[in-house]
Amino acid sequence: MGSKKVAIVGSGLIGRSWAMLFAGAGYNVHLYDVTQELVENAIKDIEEQLQALATSGLLRGNLNASEQLKLITGTKTLKECVQGALYVQECVPENLELKKKVFAELDALVDDSAIIASSTSCTLPSLFSENMKHRQNVIVAHPVNPPFYVPLVELVPAPWTSPEVAIKARQIMEELGQKPVSLSREIPGFALNRIQYAILNECWYLAQEGILDVADIDSVMSHGLGPRYAFMGPLETAHLNAEGMENYCERYGETIFNVSKTLGPVTRFEGANLQKVNQQLVDQVPLENLQEKRAWRNNCLSSLAQLKQNI
Ligand code: NAD
Repeated sequence: MGSKKVAIVGSGLIGRSWAMLFAGAGYNVHLYDVTQELVENAIKDIEEQLQALATSGLLRGNLNASEQLKLITGTKTLKECVQGALYVQECVPENLELKKKVFAELDALVDDSAIIASSTSCTLPSLFSENMKHRQNVIVAHPVNPPFYVPLVELVPAPWTSPEVAIKARQIMEELGQKPVSLSREIPGFALNRIQYAILNECWYLAQEGILDVADIDSVMSHGLGPRYAFMGPLETAHLNAEGMENYCERYGETIFNVSKTLGPVTRFEGANLQKVNQQLVDQVPLENLQEKRAWRNNCLSSLAQLKQNI
């Protein structure tokens, strides 16, 4: 227990979440940020989060909160953080030049066998790993916020990522209790954002055309598609909604094709429609209430995660 070292580089929102997930699985976690104060603040926040999770019975793994906290060590230098680590998770802000700089630094410090994973939400791994000596060990491991309650992790290889690294990264994510999906190659938006943007585009179009107002558009998802998709994806849903997928396509294929031809064109999210959508959202949730609403959403997600564990 605690002998397997992982390194977390960047101690913000996502770095803290990864630290907690790895500690929950018994890893020896080393955390680095650009100042000592940031690392100390992160560890203080992690301690509070672990205590709160323990109080509400939502702590993961077999160790109690103080045992998990003991597995997390702050480090003063990047070298101290990553040397000897079998897995490095980069969590610095979403900026290509910064990612390139950090990955070049990591390249000079990591063990030859270490997996070097990036939390990036949208940068293709080839863009920051091409010139690295250890580029075959680089992969994107993109979590979904908040990772403690939303377990999906997208694993995205660069063209030169070794298949063994992709397999090993998947095993590690499963060990943490996350739900990895493994893309066969990099593609803009990975999978989650491609699907999310397809949905956002059509919501935008329905608002622009005045077919529904913002609250009703969101209801289509939160009271219609969303509850269903929390348990089963769209493809399996289709399979069940007829006598199998082939029968579904025989029955509905022509309709799907004809409706799909009328979907809104790809557009920029700006101008008069942005003002309209934004005004309705601000009336619904004033900007000063966003934090409160986020806490409510996280509570809902934690209840859903518990429910999914018990069914
Ligand atoms: P954040 O701003 O909360 O934290 C980033 C941390 O990195 C900060 O503490 C910062 O001081 C530190 N940092 C900056 N330069 C550094 C360096 N050279 N070395 C070490 N640390 C450095 O950002 P975040 O929300 O945690 O996002 C981190 C990554 O995770 C981004 O790539 C982001 O796209 C991705 N991500 C974010 C979310 C989300 O919802 N926030 C979800 C999935 C993925």
